[in-house]
Amino acid sequence: MLKYLLAATLLASPALAADTVILNARIHTMAGKGAAADGGRVAQGLCITNGRITAVGSAPLARACIRPGTRVIDAGGRLVLPGLIDSHMHPVMGSFGESGIDFAAADTPEKLATALAALKAANPGSGPIYARGWQNHLFGPHGPLASGLDAVFGDRIVIIESVDGHSSWYSSAALRAGGVTAATADPVPGNSFWERDAAGNPTGTAREGADADVMPRLISRRTADYRAALLRWLPRAAESGLTGVFDASMTAPTESAAHDMVAGLASSGQLSLRLFLSTFDRGQSDDPVARLVRLKQTHSVGLLRPTAVKLFGDGVPEAHTAYLLAPYRDRPDFRGVPIMTNAWLDARITAAEKAGIPVHVHAIGGAAVRQVLDAVARARFAGLTSQRHAIAHMDLVDPTDVPRFAKLNVVAQTSIQWATRDPSYDNIGSFVGADLMEAAYPVKSLIASGAVQSFGTDWPAAAYLSTWKPLTQIEVAVTRRLPGRRDLPARNPAQALSVAQAVRALTFGSAYQLGVERELGSLEVGKRADLILLDRDIFRIDPSTIAAGRSLLTMVDGRVVWDAR
Ligand SMILES: [Zn+2]
Repeated sequence: MLKYLLAATLLASPALAADTVILNARIHTMAGKGAAADGGRVAQGLCITNGRITAVGSAPLARACIRPGTRVIDAGGRLVLPGLIDSHMHPVMGSFGESGIDFAAADTPEKLATALAALKAANPGSGPIYARGWQNHLFGPHGPLASGLDAVFGDRIVIIESVDGHSSWYSSAALRAGGVTAATADPVPGNSFWERDAAGNPTGTAREGADADVMPRLISRRTADYRAALLRWLPRAAESGLTGVFDASMTAPTESAAHDMVAGLASSGQLSLRLFLSTFDRGQSDDPVARLVRLKQTHSVGLLRPTAVKLFGDGVPEAHTAYLLAPYRDRPDFRGVPIMTNAWLDARITAAEKAGIPVHVHAIGGAAVRQVLDAVARARFAGLTSQRHAIAHMDLVDPTDVPRFAKLNVVAQTSIQWATRDPSYDNIGSFVGADLMEAAYPVKSLIASGAVQSFGTDWPAAAYLSTWKPLTQIEVAVTRRLPGRRDLPARNPAQALSVAQAVRALTFGSAYQLGVERELGSLEVGKRADLILLDRDIFRIDPSTIAAGRSLLTMVDGRVVWDAR
């Protein structure tokens, strides 16, 4: 019946002339109510005019848009999907931190020693060294020691951030040059602090930005370096299938320098994906809502869209800074401390609602997740219902809080590639309990409860697997194992998703979170032509081979930004 109606419409009105037509494709439109179940209506052809989809359907329908001068792309029978949108990432910081040495892959003491030696070899001379990516599970609960760096680098300033970005490892020379001593006050005791010995002397690990004023004095960071690193990364992002990213805070080296830098790329057409910006909350006397309102006026250029205010609800379990509902296993008197007071959070959400802006709140521990849900519930009760706020990460959400996401219209944002039994699993489990670890990332329950689930990698941050690649997220959402590792046990397979559900989280889910689902997130007439042509049909292959795939053709706004055919 539907086919008949489409054909009748086609006969009634001559097809629009297209600049681009895709033929001989297997297009999973991700459109319609059933899209989460089966990937939506499957079409064979698609027409694009002035950056928008003007027809999607059968081969004859698409052929009717062809005129002299139309670019015709033969998809060779391959899978076409809406462009994938990452709902939480830090691409500017991620691309800048790529030292060329993969510390995240150094997951044994021996591999770490090799990586440190490589870092030294790559940085001859005596200048300061900055890198990132060390794995938390290699060290005890108080983090790495300065002496570990001194043994390799001698009396040299070396600072290496952890893979999750929540801790920094300092050499003795770096501590000394930074003026960090037993007398140095911790910014927020118990949350943002220096690890210390019994005498109070710093031992070499800074938690949660305790070094925010120290590092910039030791490591020079020029905006031009950030820009060059981002430009090197953009083609790799396009190859991975990304056409959009929500940036959950960027610095280059400051937030405003980063925003100006990406605006420059956007206005000169050098940005090859959509970048949704946030303003990062800096604490009590700061007004990130007003900053975002201004940013919308000044930085809505090209593919750039200032979108949300980023707040922090807690830290991470590795640093005992996640705010839990029950005490840490190794500290029976302590369950973390909240970063926000309820009054402060209420004021932020109220201001954001009134300005027509969603908040995007980092919350990993169950108590932090509940604190945000309670605050949104108070706002909804007060009639503030216009915005889709999001809780980011929400690793340890309590089962009783799962149904509240749908009820309160709060988007569940998850870095699903963390939901594996990777080497951080037992490490974090020893802090928070194996039961919480196994129950973490209840994405299937959330979707079943009616919540909108979005996926974003949080790159470069990670508990273990640091990546920007959306196909990795799809594979792990389906297998609950590290990519390609069929030999490993799955982590809580009862929460495994179908491929269609995982794709929907990276298309409709992210678009909904960002308020652009009428423009993006599915391949339908009238929507923006953001799409990818994959080298494999992820709906039909062994799921443990999805992450190895790549895009052969990536299009944003009907413009080809990546072509590997
Ligand atoms: Zn993040």
